[in-house]
Amino acid sequence: MSTLSHSSMDYSIEVSEDHEAFRKIVRDFAEKELAPVAQKIDVENEMDMGLVRKAGELGLFGIPFPQEYGGSSGDDLSLVLTSEELARFSAAFSAVVGANYLVSVPLFIFGNDEQKKKFLTPIARGQKLAAHAMTEPGTGSDVAGITTSARKDGQKYVINGKKMFITNGDKADLYMVFARTGPPEEGKRHRGVTAFMVEKGTPGLKVGQRINTIGLRGDQPVELVFENMEVPEENIVGEMGRGVNVALTTYDHGRVGVAAQGTGLAQAALEAALNYSTQRQTFGEYLLSYQQVQFKIAEMAAAVQTARLLTYWAATLTHKGTNFIKASSIAKIAATEAAESNAQKAMLIMGAYGVSSDMQVERILRDSQVIKTYEGTNDIQRLTIMKEIGKEMGVVG
Ligand SMILES: Cc1cc2nc3c(=O)[nH]c(=O)nc-3n(C[C@H](O)[C@H](O)[C@H](O)COP(=O)(O)OP(=O)(O)OC[C@H]3O[C@@H](n4cnc5c(N)ncnc54)[C@H](O)[C@@H]3O)c2cc1C
Repeated sequence: MSTLSHSSMDYSIEVSEDHEAFRKIVRDFAEKELAPVAQKIDVENEMDMGLVRKAGELGLFGIPFPQEYGGSSGDDLSLVLTSEELARFSAAFSAVVGANYLVSVPLFIFGNDEQKKKFLTPIARGQKLAAHAMTEPGTGSDVAGITTSARKDGQKYVINGKKMFITNGDKADLYMVFARTGPPEEGKRHRGVTAFMVEKGTPGLKVGQRINTIGLRGDQPVELVFENMEVPEENIVGEMGRGVNVALTTYDHGRVGVAAQGTGLAQAALEAALNYSTQRQTFGEYLLSYQQVQFKIAEMAAAVQTARLLTYWAATLTHKGTNFIKASSIAKIAATEAAESNAQKAMLIMGAYGVSSDMQVERILRDSQVIKTYEGTNDIQRLTIMKEIGKEMGVVG
């Protein structure tokens, strides 16, 4: 696909009846089980781990993997439908589920058979929770800048350093940890970083402070500290020194899941505004009768549809494995910003109830700030889009 000259086939979205049947299963779970506890999760800032286990039993952690590794051989579209339906009620809950894929997907793409059996299979079956540990106090977007070190000592590596903002870091049984095994190569800063699997309870692995953020309450990230943490050599995932490639490939595949969270949140704000404006009367008229409210709701509906179409399109391309990087970045920007703008419009429509912290809309606005930030900020997505356009035009490598 070229930016300047494209085929209409590049825009196909492959949704089947199986997808819709699957969506109904997830929606049923979300409406019956998640919706009643979503506000409590946010207010108490604690995840409902019993419900997370139920999501595992439903197969929501293993969607794209083959059955031999505990999955259900679904596709990326099934994955985004799940993320969207869960985020419609609780983006925090969808984040707890989604963070597992930041470990299971790279294990599936880069892991050997033994690693897939040992680590991927229990994650996919929902028996073990996982956390992806890249970000550090001194670096986030610039993953090549990490300083956590892994020193070879016989058949094992000794890891020292600190990670920040790690989702599921306090709940995980398994961690994918990125550390420097060597210095950056001349002209290739991203070389010299390696991905390791680390098991909970490994001596030297400490869960540090919880970091309170504006949104996704109930799923607050934590610090991780590694003090002479020994990891066997066989736990290296992918090639030695090529961990940045492992991580960036993971983010390329995972970004569309964040777009789906944005779509779910944008949809929730639209529903809240519609419900409120058909029930609340001012000066003897329902709010929905005012054109000023109708225009806002029409714009919100347009934003949801745009987000959803871009997200399903990016998921279709991700599954095909073609030209999906730019599509996913576009979808992430559009959907996460739709969540923010729909929450703001819903707040205006709902007056004092819109800004009340007992109402879902205020939570949607807070959650939208976080999803704009993680898995690559939206400005980093803009850089990615420009890089991909440059490649298409043959002007940059
Ligand atoms: C709730 C939450 C959960 C998270 N979960 C995880 C997790 O599970 N695992 C993990 O490893 N990390 C996680 N993160 C970290 C997250 O991925 C990073 O916060 C994110 O990548 C941004 O990094 P940073 O915060 O260090 O910002 P920085 O990289 O310091 O960027 C700061 C600002 O500068 C901008 N910027 C940076 N470089 C450029 C550039 N070249 N051009 C233009 N603008 C630029 C950014 O867009 C941003 O606005 C999480 C973060 C949050 C908030």
